Amino acid sequence: TYTLGPKISDWDQQRKVWLSENPEFPNFVNGKARILLVTGSPPNPCDNAIGDHYLLKAIKNKIDYCRLHGVEIVYNMAHLDKELAGYWAKLPLIRRLMLSHPEVEWIWWMDSDAFFTDMVFEIPLSKYDKYNLVVHGYPDLMFEQKSWIALNTGSFLFRNCQWSLDLLDAWAPMGPKGSIREEAGKVLTANLKGRPAFEADDQSALIYLLLSQKEMWMDKVFLENQYYLHGYWAGLVDRYEEMMEKYHPGLGDERWPFVTHFVGCKPCGSYGDYPVERCLRSMQRAFNFADNQVLKLYGFRHRGLLGPNIKRIRNETVTPLEIIDELDIRRSTHEKT
Ligand code: UDP
Ligand code: MN
Repeated sequence: TYTLGPKISDWDQQRKVWLSENPEFPNFVNGKARILLVTGSPPNPCDNAIGDHYLLKAIKNKIDYCRLHGVEIVYNMAHLDKELAGYWAKLPLIRRLMLSHPEVEWIWWMDSDAFFTDMVFEIPLSKYDKYNLVVHGYPDLMFEQKSWIALNTGSFLFRNCQWSLDLLDAWAPMGPKGSIREEAGKVLTANLKGRPAFEADDQSALIYLLLSQKEMWMDKVFLENQYYLHGYWAGLVDRYEEMMEKYHPGLGDERWPFVTHFVGCKPCGSYGDYPVERCLRSMQRAFNFADNQVLKLYGFRHRGLLGPNIKRIRNETVTPLEIIDELDIRRSTHEKT
């Protein structure tokens, strides 16, 4: 049967030794766990040329967030394992990065079609001290409804440890493309509420695994829904003006969503669940909404949420350092809600 690689069973031990031998690469820096954000897109140009422009906007948005918060970032365009092409590509990639970066404590996967829309909010990592996987989801949708959207694999964090390698091994077998993926899709559709008939996808496979082996895994899985680690775009993008009027960045929840994820939009490929025009317009709005928070640091903002034009919001001054502290996002991250 399919495996992600040679079975490793003493990773915690191997990593511990490595960390003690390489103190110049600590997994905690100034008390903060080292985080590596991982994203990527297919190796070839988009079918729809405008899609590449939106991929550029999406990576610019992630670079901005990561720079402001000291998160490292990887952009992958290679298929490390041909069997696991498409949405399954994140599995071998996450495993590879864990093994190649023992200094990283958390690997954070984020889809290319997910945008940071709260540039101030930070993941409350201390909440997850006892957990190894953090994913946006709802326990009732999961265990009572067995819904195929009980959690979302567009943005989640894995601790770099043996448990995570084991989970990846248990998660991967439905992924190999062709008949395995097709047949597994039937099992998933038969078992998960609301799932249309199609080949096995990584999200359904994870839900199915956690449902069928609850005892084995769930004590280390945190289903987060206090803020939008993943936020479904359709309910959010039309409310940005209202949010700007009433609230402020740093909240991360429905008042000012941390992440807006364009599930079902496929501007790069050909078949999505929504009209491409609506997707692109909504992505543009999410991008500008987020970019306003970045431009503000430099004294500008977009004229509107749709177009590229910006305007100045502060006069130039000969003593720019006087206001630098109040503008710095890094100093306002512990803002209480
Ligand atoms: N992806 C990738 N390489 C590929 C295909 C997909 O890295 O060859 C990534 C990409 O980041 C994409 C994610 O896999 O965003 C999941 O796919 P998608 O967002 O289209 O799925 P959805 O969120 O709509 O279910
Ligand atoms: Mn996605």
